[in-house]
Amino acid sequence: MGFGHTDKNVLKRYYEIPQGDRVQAMYVWIDGTGESLRAKTKTLNEEPKSPKDCPIWNFDGSSTYQAEGSNSDVYLHPVALFNDPFRGGKNKLVLCETYKYNKMPHETNKRHTCNQVMERAKEAKPWFGIEQEYTLLDMDGHPLGWPKNGFPGPQGPYYCGVGANKVHGRDIVEAHYRCCLYAGITISGTNAEVMPAQWEFQVGPCEGIQMGDHLWMARFLLHRVCEDFNVIATLDPKPMEGDWNGAGAHCNYSTLGMREPGGIKDIEQAIDRLSRHHVRHIKAYDPKEGKDNERRLTGAHETSSIHDFSAGI
Ligand code: MG
Repeated sequence: MGFGHTDKNVLKRYYEIPQGDRVQAMYVWIDGTGESLRAKTKTLNEEPKSPKDCPIWNFDGSSTYQAEGSNSDVYLHPVALFNDPFRGGKNKLVLCETYKYNKMPHETNKRHTCNQVMERAKEAKPWFGIEQEYTLLDMDGHPLGWPKNGFPGPQGPYYCGVGANKVHGRDIVEAHYRCCLYAGITISGTNAEVMPAQWEFQVGPCEGIQMGDHLWMARFLLHRVCEDFNVIATLDPKPMEGDWNGAGAHCNYSTLGMREPGGIKDIEQAIDRLSRHHVRHIKAYDPKEGKDNERRLTGAHETSSIHDFSAGI
């Protein structure tokens, strides 16, 4: 066992201590990086049945890159409720939006505007499915299971692979999958990816804002599970330079019109509209306005060029 690591088996004994009638609610939010998650726990006197049953809470934004001026209090507004697979029982995970002292949504609260758009698009019944790829890293930042002084064999045998020489970290993938099911996340599958130590899970189909809520909580569970295994999960689009695939989050989308007979017309219309705002969309896809995806979308390694819009059947 490494320095600073504890034996997680010992914790089991403490989880068996009855907690009485009270419930532990872990509030989860996205910090100022637009990428990392933060969490803290509050005791509730009874089991919440909806996010509305969870009180508004707050935290110090100066420690999460979310401070504004002299008033650094940021408020947590519960928006989605999940079962807590770690504490079990009635305990909950509570996804939150962030609000400023003046009751305005925080600049880093992208869910607020997203939800407004989803409300406007409600009649179209927008469905999403997102394929989240990620890479497992050892505590030294090197991909899990890779030789410490060198590289694994070239890509080819790893995608959907089986065997100790093909995949690394399956126990983490299994633990995460079960946690998602228990939490109530609409997870639809997993697979090993093209680069060794790279994996994917899929969330969806989800309607409207539920897509973001379920994906972000699934990401939280991934980081939390990895913590137990002393491994790091990164969503970096290109964790290893060279002849190695990157990791993306492919978004699948349809409206009610697209799903009905003759829906190809609606699909063609949507493609036409998307094609007119390619640069704008690329900027919106990652917190660094495209700078991160630029490293992955090179046209090689199963990607398209970041500069070109393309469509096809
Ligand atoms: Mg994939």
